[in-house]
Amino acid sequence: MKHFNPDEKGYYGQYGGAFIPEMLQANIIELQEHYLTIIKDESFIVEYQQLLKDYVGRPTPLFYSNNLSKQYNAKIYLKREDLNHTGAHKINNTIGQILLAKRLNKKRIIAETGAGQHGVATATTCALLGLECTVFMGAVDIERQKPNVERMKMLGAEVVPALSGSQTLKDATNEAIREWINNPKDTHYVIGSVVGPHPYPDMVAKFQSIISEEIAKQLMEKENTDKPDYVIACVGGGSNAMGAFYHFIDNGHTKLIAVEAAGKGVDTEETAASITLGQKGIIHGSMTYLMQTADGQIIEPYSISAGLDYPGIGPAHAYLSDIGKVTVEAVTDEEAIQAAFHLTKTDGIIPALESAHALAILEKVKFNPSDIVVVNVSGRGDKDMLTYSKYFTHEK
Ligand SMILES: *Cc1c(COP(=O)(O)O)cnc(C)c1O
Repeated sequence: MKHFNPDEKGYYGQYGGAFIPEMLQANIIELQEHYLTIIKDESFIVEYQQLLKDYVGRPTPLFYSNNLSKQYNAKIYLKREDLNHTGAHKINNTIGQILLAKRLNKKRIIAETGAGQHGVATATTCALLGLECTVFMGAVDIERQKPNVERMKMLGAEVVPALSGSQTLKDATNEAIREWINNPKDTHYVIGSVVGPHPYPDMVAKFQSIISEEIAKQLMEKENTDKPDYVIACVGGGSNAMGAFYHFIDNGHTKLIAVEAAGKGVDTEETAASITLGQKGIIHGSMTYLMQTADGQIIEPYSISAGLDYPGIGPAHAYLSDIGKVTVEAVTDEEAIQAAFHLTKTDGIIPALESAHALAILEKVKFNPSDIVVVNVSGRGDKDMLTYSKYFTHEK
């Protein structure tokens, strides 16, 4: 049993599956029946790999940070997903899914977005491959991620505000699903994380698994081992973490740490720590951990980081955390901000607020000097400059 693969119904243990309205059955079944055949096809692999190399700029560097290594007394490597075209890991998945959509003869792409990174990656890929693109985004996120909204528009996408609920990622996802129900035939819905009904969690995990594939190769060159002692990644829906963990899950050695957003703290009402605080429930088509009230109402999540502001978690992470293959930590807004300023100062890298949550773990774990630690820097911080600049006055 490989722990990163679901069974044929899309279950990771008791999590996952496909809980969808009747109107989406045909689309989902079409995907379930074809995704593995398509993504294992030689001509697909060649086209996908070529675009990752020449368009996205892969492989992304695995950077040994001298300064962090000295400070934390371990060998600290940063996997530089921030250096991908469009500034985050999201494009590994959008290129994969949109190439797949073309092979299924779809003409139009819809997507949801939180921080805007998935929307930008989707709009970018649609521009490149010549498909129509509509992106749903919470009205609150449109406000706090303005530069990304402008980028999507310049790339030719229509950006539709989601005005329900907390007007963030969950609500944008609801709107995208509604739109898909109304246009099932010629439209493909590009989900941006390892969430949603089967086959999305597995499909997105496979597209993002390029991250751990590269880490293993790069460590073999640099450290003569393909087994790091730690891999640390932030989790919103969980796609960059799943990609960074994928090839290490069953090696019997690597400790995997998933970092969720505590917001103002896991003991406050303003949090997005969905594994720490969640209970089993169904969200966006899959059974997983979910922040909910005693009578099953979804609790509105909160995080300073739009990409982590989601009340659920990919079903694979629910499972891997249950069986102890992944350790889950929660990091507050404040700790993430400190970590972002720290990395900027020590290494001249401004990370995305999401990635800063993963970096904050370096303060919390006691490493051995020989430990090889890989932190996945999922994205760059340009989109977060408005938030960061509010803290300039407090930083010395
Ligand atoms: C979207 C995003 C995330 C969160 O999504 P995952 O699916 O959990 O990876 C994290 N970091 C960045 C930079 C993002 O854009």
